[in-house]
Amino acid sequence: MTAYPLDAPVSQALLDRATSVTPGGVNSPVRAFRAVGGTPRFMESGSGPYLCDVDGREYVDLVCSWGPMILGHAHPAVLDAVRGTIEKGFSFGTPSENEVALAEEIVRRVEPVEQVRLVSSGTEATMSAIRLARGYTGRSLVVKFAGCYHGHVDSLLAQAGSGVATFALPDSAGVPKEMAAETIVLPYNDLAAFEEAFAERGADIAAVITEASPGNMGVVPPAPGFTEGLRRVTAQHGALLISDEVMTGFRCSASGWYGLEGPYAAGAPDLFTFGKVMGGGFPAAAFGGRADVMALLAPLGPVYQAGTLSGNPVATAAGLATLQQCTPDVYDRLSAVADTLTAAVGEELSKAGVPHVVQRAGSMFSVFFRNGAVTDYDEARAQHVPAFAAFFHSMLSQGVYLPPSAFESWFVSASHDDAAVERVVAALPAAASAAAEAFATIES
Ligand code: PLP
Repeated sequence: MTAYPLDAPVSQALLDRATSVTPGGVNSPVRAFRAVGGTPRFMESGSGPYLCDVDGREYVDLVCSWGPMILGHAHPAVLDAVRGTIEKGFSFGTPSENEVALAEEIVRRVEPVEQVRLVSSGTEATMSAIRLARGYTGRSLVVKFAGCYHGHVDSLLAQAGSGVATFALPDSAGVPKEMAAETIVLPYNDLAAFEEAFAERGADIAAVITEASPGNMGVVPPAPGFTEGLRRVTAQHGALLISDEVMTGFRCSASGWYGLEGPYAAGAPDLFTFGKVMGGGFPAAAFGGRADVMALLAPLGPVYQAGTLSGNPVATAAGLATLQQCTPDVYDRLSAVADTLTAAVGEELSKAGVPHVVQRAGSMFSVFFRNGAVTDYDEARAQHVPAFAAFFHSMLSQGVYLPPSAFESWFVSASHDDAAVERVVAALPAAASAAAEAFATIES
């Protein structure tokens, strides 16, 4: 059994260098390990289900770059596509064929999406979708749900999940209160509260944005009928429904969460946002939906949106190759890996007497260290975070890289073969004991 030391001297030396030139030494907050303590591992290479750090340690990767690496690291077909493209130039600032092919692939897979516009990050996708919805409706209010994360868009940071949850921030500083006042935050999975908000302010609401199935407060799927209810009420009041599939898109199924839960009797969401998997590990994302709404975008209409690197030929080649490789076999493998891991995690935590619940959406899953199902952000926060930290560090020392936060989904790839899965399973008993000990000694 692997037993890496708790310290990581080469990573630590890099972190020391990094902190003098970058705030916190990282370029995205959760990477800093602040929620679990210890030295963030600086990774040097990735191959299939494994990551290798600068201290020469190998880990089974259950983060998969926070979702994009659905085929595993450095997949040969994606590598070939990137090599074949990059040799012809890196960026033209003109239209190119890969963008068309990637857009066609997205439109083919997600039935309600008639047109897409490519951007470079999920944040840009949600920001642009909100602007478009405001332009279309002529209204300004936006509804979001507590615990959902839609990137670091000013108006969407209120009670956001992901890093904002990890660091227990109430909201972000730097967001003007006038802007925050344009956002109504509601509890997730609470249709009554939603209907009430619309009864009061429905005529001013431009859009409702929701994670198709939230993964940024841990995995908290919509209750049966919740998304349907959002669609019904928004349609009644002339507001647009934006389904944020940045995380779930092309991961939960070939057509994302929509493929698992849709179509809805009340109609499809008006707009969707995508990212992660569709970029194959490169910066590519998209928003899209009804053609009549998308027609408002410049150069056709008055809603401005643009990007120097939007539709970058290398990123779109990687994304297209990734989606083309996402065959039914890939989704079967993701499910099988998630089946084995969720069962094994549950079994070992039960054996160790650790309160827990494992929640799942397609192949995304996470563990909450508490009793009882989690249906919203308040329940997600009522978990024993120190137990997660103890569990995390035990897994890390045994060569398994989990998300360094109790408020994130775990991600698997189709390259997680039986050997990789077995390594994770073998690490669980010690990690479950560490969590049990944390429960016994540390107040939550
Ligand atoms: N929307 C969701 C659901 C996400 O999970 C994320 C990122 O994790 C984003 C939007 C923002 O994407 P990006 O980090 O590419 O800006």
